[in-house]
Amino acid sequence: MEKYDRVFELAKNRGFIWPAFEIYGGASGFYDYGPLGATLKRKIEDAWRRFYCVGEGFYEIEVPTIGVEAIFEASGHVGGFADPMVTCQQCKESFRADHIVKETMEIPDGLKKEQLTAIIKEHDIRCPECKGPLGDVYDFNLMFQTWIGPGQKKKGYMRPETAQGMFVDFPRLLRFYREKLPFGVTQIGKSYRNEISPRQGVIRLREFTQAEAEVFVNPQFKNQHPNFGAVRDLALPLWDENAQLSNGPVTPMRVGEAVERGTIANQYLAYYVALTHKFLVWVGIDPARLRFRQHMRTERAHYATDCWDAEVMLEGLGWIEIVGIADRTSYDLTAHQKRSEVDLSVFIPFEKPLKVKKTVVTPDMKTIGPKFKGKAGKIMAALKAMKPEELDRPEVRLDIDGEEVVIDSSLFKHETAEVDVNGENVIPHVVEPSYGIDRILYSVLEHAYDEEIVQGEERIVLRLNRTVAPITVAVLPLLSREPLTGRAAGIAQTLKNAGYFVEYDDSGTIGKRYRRNDEAGTPFCVTVDFDTIEDGTVTVRDRDSMAQVRVPADGLAGLLSELLCTGRPLEGYGKKV
Ligand code: AMP
Repeated sequence: MEKYDRVFELAKNRGFIWPAFEIYGGASGFYDYGPLGATLKRKIEDAWRRFYCVGEGFYEIEVPTIGVEAIFEASGHVGGFADPMVTCQQCKESFRADHIVKETMEIPDGLKKEQLTAIIKEHDIRCPECKGPLGDVYDFNLMFQTWIGPGQKKKGYMRPETAQGMFVDFPRLLRFYREKLPFGVTQIGKSYRNEISPRQGVIRLREFTQAEAEVFVNPQFKNQHPNFGAVRDLALPLWDENAQLSNGPVTPMRVGEAVERGTIANQYLAYYVALTHKFLVWVGIDPARLRFRQHMRTERAHYATDCWDAEVMLEGLGWIEIVGIADRTSYDLTAHQKRSEVDLSVFIPFEKPLKVKKTVVTPDMKTIGPKFKGKAGKIMAALKAMKPEELDRPEVRLDIDGEEVVIDSSLFKHETAEVDVNGENVIPHVVEPSYGIDRILYSVLEHAYDEEIVQGEERIVLRLNRTVAPITVAVLPLLSREPLTGRAAGIAQTLKNAGYFVEYDDSGTIGKRYRRNDEAGTPFCVTVDFDTIEDGTVTVRDRDSMAQVRVPADGLAGLLSELLCTGRPLEGYGKKV
């Protein structure tokens, strides 16, 4: 069995992940999180909150997962959020055209539909299902469309990313943050993409969870992240565009150096690449199977100036993107400002007012008003926007709503005056770390999955980070009878009261129960035996080293707290067994 299948088998059997709608045959791209999976997911999300909401001070918001059409027209998703699709002319099955081609030959990402059609024709690439001929490649929009309310009047879309909700809330968020940049906002929630024939199991889903932060920053200060010092010396495994073009290696590079050399576009972007590295390693991604790949110019989203993907190596699947970190510039806010006609700029005061020569135009409104009636306001605004040399004429010609209006110079006065300018209006730039929680979760499972032979028997163990493991401690009475069961239940309750996820388990041999908990990734097992009744001590077993120590039962909550906070080995505590 392939590693993916073995991990997935364990995930299904132990209640982490299984296919959705199984009794009706399932549907590709949809999975359920079972009891342990949902708990693990929650803990990964909580860790993300600790990094971004607590650590960075970015408040979390929650907006509807359905959005009105205008949002996605403005964002470019209606027009451009599409993947190249090809349909078999014989069996009518549809496929992602670039994926099909990639099964036969290496091609760069981001090829246009015409280029893909040409390759398919030239190399006679056929339907993977029935070997029938394939048609021309066309664009397939990935958004799920719906109707809001009865009838088919108001179109809506299931959001394909959480980000847009934070952009459209910008005016209110700006007020919340007292009109000052920089600030960040986060959201964890579902996104929907109607992926074409998702065949990578839990990696490509049609409904998935994103954790995104939008960091709004004055473009002038993108190279001055206030906390850059904290990451400057961190070495990151970077695979930049040049290295990819020359088939070069992934190179470890310090964050500070990456910015100085221009490998990463600016400090803000680099800071969030570094934070992503810290987060991923913290939740249990193996740093040796993690790299940051720069997007090639050809594959970058239309808005991004620079973009890096955190990719992990998954067996049988290769390098998979789990986080995208992009400098989205002012693209989104500019687009929403244009479409909504709401000002989305921020007033940035200058340190000292600037003296600026300005043309002051005084229109003769007594004459212009009655003469031009409804157009008078627009005429006044157009005159005020003109340059001095354009006004120094016997008459000026204005374009008002597509119509030429001629204004005699006797209808306005103009003079040049020196005025104080106290600041300027700027549309913020956005740096966005976008995490796919489902992919992170699967990667954490795979990287934690281990098989070993112990005393002639195979042991499967999930070496999950102690803090994200769904169950922190299992309490096991050595035998399923009193007084051991009562005492063990009491200890379990005390630990639950202290806030731990506890599993009480008294069925099967102790060896079986250890194995069960190893497979669930439970970092500690507490065994209650007859000595416990006598002297109040219990055995604590470490999942990874299988070391056992004897400690007082009434100190367990404190011990767990210390083990979780420090990550120290259990062997340093109590008496070795
Ligand atoms: P993107 O907006 O495409 O850069 O996506 C941001 C992150 O969302 C990616 O790094 C993935 O982790 C995750 N993601 C995107 N598409 C999917 C999908 N179909 N299934 C699961 N996760 C996804």
